[in-house]
Amino acid sequence: MIPTKYIFITGGVTSSLGKGIISASLAKLLQARGYVVTIQKLDPYINVDPGTLNPYEHGECYVTEDGAETDLDLGHYERFLGVTTSQANNVTTGRIYQSVINKERRGDYLGKTVQVIPHITDEIKRRIKLLGGRNKYDFVITEIGGTVGDIESLPYVEAVRQLKWEMGDQNVLNIHLTLVPYLKASGELKTKPTQHSVKMLLENGVQPNILVLRTEHELGDDLRRKVALFCNVDADSVIQSIDVSTIYEVPILMQKEKLDITVLKKLGMDYSGTAELESWNKFLKRLQNPKFHSKVALVGKYVELPDAYISINESLKHAGAMNDCRVEVNFIHSEDIDEHNYIDLLKGHDGILVAPGFGDRGIDGKILAARYARENNVPFFGICLGLQCAVIEFARDVLGLEKAHSTEMALKTPDPVIDLMEEQKGVTEKGGTMRLGAYPCILKDGTHTSEAYNLHEINERHRHRYEFNNKYLEAFEKAGMISTGVNPDTSLVEIMEIPSHKWFIGVQFHPEYSSTVLKPHPLFVNFIKSTIC
Ligand code: GLN
Repeated sequence: MIPTKYIFITGGVTSSLGKGIISASLAKLLQARGYVVTIQKLDPYINVDPGTLNPYEHGECYVTEDGAETDLDLGHYERFLGVTTSQANNVTTGRIYQSVINKERRGDYLGKTVQVIPHITDEIKRRIKLLGGRNKYDFVITEIGGTVGDIESLPYVEAVRQLKWEMGDQNVLNIHLTLVPYLKASGELKTKPTQHSVKMLLENGVQPNILVLRTEHELGDDLRRKVALFCNVDADSVIQSIDVSTIYEVPILMQKEKLDITVLKKLGMDYSGTAELESWNKFLKRLQNPKFHSKVALVGKYVELPDAYISINESLKHAGAMNDCRVEVNFIHSEDIDEHNYIDLLKGHDGILVAPGFGDRGIDGKILAARYARENNVPFFGICLGLQCAVIEFARDVLGLEKAHSTEMALKTPDPVIDLMEEQKGVTEKGGTMRLGAYPCILKDGTHTSEAYNLHEINERHRHRYEFNNKYLEAFEKAGMISTGVNPDTSLVEIMEIPSHKWFIGVQFHPEYSSTVLKPHPLFVNFIKSTIC
């Protein structure tokens, strides 16, 4: 049996070059050749996980099936590969230090001085090998967050250096992603930042094996040769990553650039044959040649930063392609919506999606968006807080419970239609204490919900503390908003629907975390379908 091969993706020059997408694309190509691949993200910040981070800081917090709150890149990994990740796929500096300090407190270091090298680097290596251990995977691709040269990423680069030394170039590979800027005034592409970035890596003891150069313009052979010469890599190891209109084109581009072949050659693996990307290409074709168009309002409070809703955005694209439809997403800030303007702001949309969220900022706008959708028979999709807002709106407007609210926003409301879950009542710590991860849910037959899924039992990922208050269920159902999905173990209501409406579904869980390119989420697919016909 061939031992697991480790590929490290580092980045230089600037952040946001798309290391996550390059990692996912390479993984896709290897997977499409029949290899078993997983991807891991190492994040150099001190937070133990991104669960407590404001989405403005780091974009969306992604949740895995096993309930880990992780970096949004894991979402890309799952969407590209169609395989689930877990807590082990995302490690932060905070988590590394937490385990080292716990060991120190237990006395595991037997009186030694605990230091960055070897203790922190050993713990980093342990986390990397933990994924690759047991030879479950042919490849572990590890993306190192941040940019080479940052103080924070030094221990990670050092861990890569050590692993290269320990396991050799046949087993450990470094792909370094940099930027080749284009100077408009002189009409030139510049390689100096790449040279400097590679120098920085070399100073830290790592000679990159492959360079991926992000660029706005085609790189000529001369430029590639120059980079190869100055950066000490093989001539076939300078790969171009040119800007494209959709991230889903990147695997195809990387295939054209022979990234998979170069990687396999360097690691002494079989590189005959080609990656089988037929269904991927079919998806791309549908995405890029839509027959229909639909305009969806995405109502949320982090709309300035599209990364805050990245999984929802991508799920809408997957569902759009499935329906041969271009989904135009119009982000509307929930704080901008009020009693006077909500009709003007929302009319003209084919569907309304109210996003997840926390706290009371912008809550009234979300409630009004639910009202507009309900009253005007516009397809409505409420996710987590989005469902809760639809429930509050229905209670106030249909059941006449004027002061109905969630106890998250109004602790003393006389009608807590959304309330804290029993098991949440004693919780004081914020990190990792929500209802997290996948839970089963039984669907009610003959509803829009079960029609969308075509299943009786589902499993969906959660991330919340509050829940529909079952005390009110009878009143809701009598008035026309029914529960169509229930947790079989706890009887918690997970889905609410208005059957008399064209399409009005709110879910307590997060379907956006499990939509993938080749398996779009049924609720998103059905929602988009309802916006077209
Ligand atoms: N704030 C709500 C809760 O905790 C909803 C959370 C969410 O939308 N993810 O229940």
